Amino acid sequence: MLFPVKLISIVETPIEELIIKVMSTEVLHDLSNLSSSQRIDLHSHTHCSDGGLSPTELIDRAVNFQIDVLAITDHDTVMALDIAKDYIVEKNSPIKLVNGIEISTAWQGFEIHIVGLNIDKNNQQLLNLITRQQNAREERATSMGLKLEKCGFSGVYQAAKELAGNGSITRAHFAKVLLHQGHVATLQKAFDKYIGKGQKAFVKPNWCEIKEAIQVIHEAGGSAVMAHPVRYDLSGKWLRRLIVQFKEADGDALEIVLPQMAPKQRELMLNYCLEYDLHASLGSDFHYPSKWSDLGRNLHMPDKAKPVWALWK
Ligand code: AMP
Ligand code: MN
Ligand code: MN
Ligand code: MN
Repeated sequence: MLFPVKLISIVETPIEELIIKVMSTEVLHDLSNLSSSQRIDLHSHTHCSDGGLSPTELIDRAVNFQIDVLAITDHDTVMALDIAKDYIVEKNSPIKLVNGIEISTAWQGFEIHIVGLNIDKNNQQLLNLITRQQNAREERATSMGLKLEKCGFSGVYQAAKELAGNGSITRAHFAKVLLHQGHVATLQKAFDKYIGKGQKAFVKPNWCEIKEAIQVIHEAGGSAVMAHPVRYDLSGKWLRRLIVQFKEADGDALEIVLPQMAPKQRELMLNYCLEYDLHASLGSDFHYPSKWSDLGRNLHMPDKAKPVWALWK
């Protein structure tokens, strides 16, 4: 056979249909004229990592919530992006998709999440980093399974693996299994007693460094955002140290608006952006429907901030 299968499928697609597909994909990714008056949510998850909805269900929900711009930022994977894009084109949905990822990194014994926004999901350096992070996830999952066996819980690794399917395996999958098997009363207890930092079945992960995550995001043409700076349980002194090093490593923005953040916290984070000349991002970190947070809810970019999307003009 002379033609690869992909080419044949293009040849067999009517030209009008192809033109519509290319045009709608361009509109879908045209992020040059975003404005704070739109409903923008730049942090969300699907079941390709630890989210509860499939990429198509997430898009349906975002459209129902009248979100104008949505970034899908799964943990260490870009698997959801093509599925979501094809679905938006197929449905001709009025939503713009930002290609994103949330990369786990290691910093001074803490796990810091770096969100990459507006990335080229096919960039080779990015794909190489994803492979390494996936290997680190797999190794940690295996070790966590062994530690949980020692706690007397059998088959947790296999069940977590099954739950994760071919997406990223995360501690959230382990927490769900521990809950379903009746070993803990809530997901939070699974972290507090077993898989959280310093607990019985905790395994130190082998994540990349902040600097490398930022560099790879830039190689892939994207913007590097420090995810949820308020959630790392750092003292003021350590948070400042983290922000300084993020800036020195060429980081672009801080995620300064999350639904649960109090006005005082938002103000504090905005001041870090102004002080260190960083852009600002906002997002729900949506994982599944809950009464605490939802897509696009309670997200407003402060007037004084330089929005991260200003970098995409
Ligand atoms: P991982 O990236 O595999 O370490 O998984 C961490 C994920 O578990 C986070 O992205 C959260 O979605 C979820 N999670 C829920 N509760 C906690 C908690 N107490 N500590 C850390 N992660 C949590
Ligand atoms: Mn998560
Ligand atoms: Mn995170
Ligand atoms: Mn997240």
